[in-house]
Amino acid sequence: MSDWLTAGLPHIWLPYTQMATAPAPLAVVATQGARIRLADGRELIDGLSSWWTACHGYNHPHIRAAVEAQLAALPHVMFAGLVHEPALRLAQRLAALLPGDLERVFFTESGSVAVEVALKMAIQYWRNQGQAEKKRIVYFRHAYHGDTFATMALCDPEEGMHALFAGTMPDQLMAELPSDDTMRRAFDLLLATHAGRLAAVIVEPLVQGAGGMKMHDAATLAFIAEACARHKVLLIADEIMTGFGRTGRMFACEEAGVIPDIVCLSKALTGGTLPLAATVARRHVFEAFLSDDPAAALMHGPTYMANPLACAAANASLDLFESEPRLAQVAAIEAQLRNELAPCRNLAGVADVRIKGAIGAVELGCQPGGSIDLNALRLRFAELGVWLRPFGNVVYLMPPFIIDAEDLATLTATVRQVLTERARQL
Ligand SMILES: *Cc1c(COP(=O)(O)O)cnc(C)c1O
Repeated sequence: MSDWLTAGLPHIWLPYTQMATAPAPLAVVATQGARIRLADGRELIDGLSSWWTACHGYNHPHIRAAVEAQLAALPHVMFAGLVHEPALRLAQRLAALLPGDLERVFFTESGSVAVEVALKMAIQYWRNQGQAEKKRIVYFRHAYHGDTFATMALCDPEEGMHALFAGTMPDQLMAELPSDDTMRRAFDLLLATHAGRLAAVIVEPLVQGAGGMKMHDAATLAFIAEACARHKVLLIADEIMTGFGRTGRMFACEEAGVIPDIVCLSKALTGGTLPLAATVARRHVFEAFLSDDPAAALMHGPTYMANPLACAAANASLDLFESEPRLAQVAAIEAQLRNELAPCRNLAGVADVRIKGAIGAVELGCQPGGSIDLNALRLRFAELGVWLRPFGNVVYLMPPFIIDAEDLATLTATVRQVLTERARQL
C-alpha cells in the first residue's frame, strides 16, 4: 500500500459510511474520460460520473485549459462589492439557457446551500410583501434536497438518511406526487387548505435522485406548476441532479413547459471539476427584494461564492454543450439502457427497472430474510472492473455522457451478471 494511504486513512471520516464495518475505500491516482485508475494499477469503468457531476467525462482538455488560464489571472476574489468576468458571463449564459425570465443568479458552492438560498428567497419574497405567515414548504415523498438542517427537513422522513434528526428541524409538509387524478385532487386540496401559510413547493423535476431514482412524467410536473400558480405558492425546481442534460433536455422542466419561480443548479454545472452551485430567480422574485428598506435585501453570502476558477470551469462546460453532441449522446445512452438494462426485470429479486435519459435504475425487492447487502454488491462490482455504488434498494447507472457504447455495454452486462448471481442465492 502507498505511504499516503496507510498514514492518512486513520484520519479520514468518510460520508454515509459505517466506519466500523465498511470495506476499505479504493485509492484513486488518476482519471481519464470514463475511466478511474487505481493505485494498484487496475482501471474501473465509471458508471456514476462522480455523484452525477462529470458529464463530459474526466479531464476534458477544454475545461482544464480554462481553469489553468483562470488560475494564472485571478484564482479568487471576494464577491461582495467586486465582480469578475467568469461569474458575469456565466450568469448571463445561465439566464439565456433557462426558460422564461429566470434571469437573476445567486452563486454558492454546494447544492444544499443553493437550496437553502432558494428557501430564504421564497420565504422573504412573501415577507417583503407583508405576508410573513407564508413560510412553510411543501416537499414530496422520496425527495432529497440536501444534508444541511433546512434541506434535511425536505427529505423523505422515512427513506431519507435523516430520520435521526427528526424533531430538530423545521416541520414542513410532505405531499404525494400528484401522478393520477385522485392524487391531483388531494394535492390541490392540500394547497388550498394551507396556501395562506405556504411559501413554496419544492420538487426534483421528473426524477427524484438520492431518494431512490423515482420517476414521474411531464404531465405531473406541469400539474404541480399549475396548482402552485393557482394557489399563489412559489415553485422551486431542484435541478441539481437533473440539470445539464441528464434527463435528455438541458433542464428537466423544459419537458413539461414549466417555468419555476426559482431553480437550483449544481452537480454537473462545472462538468465535475470544481464545487459551484447557483440559485436562479425569476424577475418577479428578484423585484420583491427591491426597496428603500435595507432589511428587505437577501442576507446571504458564502465566503467563496462565485469562485472564478469554478465559474471558468462552468463556462467551459457550457461551451462543450455547444461544441459537442451531448444531448444526442444522452439519447443514445437512453436507448442502450432500454435495450440492455430492461432484461433485469425478469430476474428474481428485481422489483422494477426505470430509465430516463442517461439514468438507469434497477430497484431491488425486499427480501424475506432482511436487508440488501450493499457492501457485498459494491465489492463485487469493483472486482468486475466497474465503479457502481448502489444505495438503499437501488442499483443505478449515471455514466458520463461521453462514455462509448462498448464501455456502457460492459456496465450493463456487469449489472445483469451481478444481479443474476444474486438471484441464484435468493
Ligand atoms: C446532490 C443533491 C443536492 C445536494 O447537493 P450537495 O452539493 O451535495 O449539497 C440537493 N438536491 C439534489 C436533487 C441533489 O441531487
